[in-house]
Amino acid sequence: MKIVLASNNAGKVREIDQILTDQDIQVLPQSSFHVTEIEETGLTFVENAILKARNAAAQSGLSAIADDSGLEVDALNGAPGIYSARFAGPGVSDEANLQKMLTDLKGFPTDQRSARFQCLMVYLRHADDPTPIICQGTWEGIITTEPRGENGFGYDPVFYVPPHDCTAAELTAEVKNRISHRGQALRCLVSAMHNLPR
Ligand code: IMP
Repeated sequence: MKIVLASNNAGKVREIDQILTDQDIQVLPQSSFHVTEIEETGLTFVENAILKARNAAAQSGLSAIADDSGLEVDALNGAPGIYSARFAGPGVSDEANLQKMLTDLKGFPTDQRSARFQCLMVYLRHADDPTPIICQGTWEGIITTEPRGENGFGYDPVFYVPPHDCTAAELTAEVKNRISHRGQALRCLVSAMHNLPR
């Protein structure tokens, strides 16, 4: 199965490739097809994931997988949510987003720093597919007061994972992929794809 992956985020593409390693599904980044990015105008993760998958399928002529994900912080009423990639402004770095998160949560005690990553993963067989497969993964954690760890991407250095007593950026890629929001959603998607009629 040859499928286009509707993302230009290097961190996501790397993780999705790793999670699919032992599968009979080959995903090709949308950059291989010169797919132009679409504006994420949806108000939910699922709307944005479908917009991205439909755009990549239309421009490549292939089936498409898209991931829309983000961090929900309870003390910020769920922000940054769907705006996680642009929390500190359009086109900013992961570091700028993470620093804004630490600034906004300054003074909040640990028991008010709960958060979770959400990942919505969708599969469209073609651009006009009216029945996308949709899977969701959720990963609970706590926002730290300073960054720790070198692995992963995005908010990983400030996302403390209680069962492992370290941040997501201190986990190996293998462990993160086993437990993360993205790992959960992608494994659910792959299993549903295998159940599709051929
Ligand atoms: P999207 O491209 O609109 O889905 O943006 C997702 C954003 O959420 C990323 O740019 C990161 O800031 C954040 N994010 C999603 N998943 C992760 C993760 O696994 N680790 C750290 N940050 C993440």
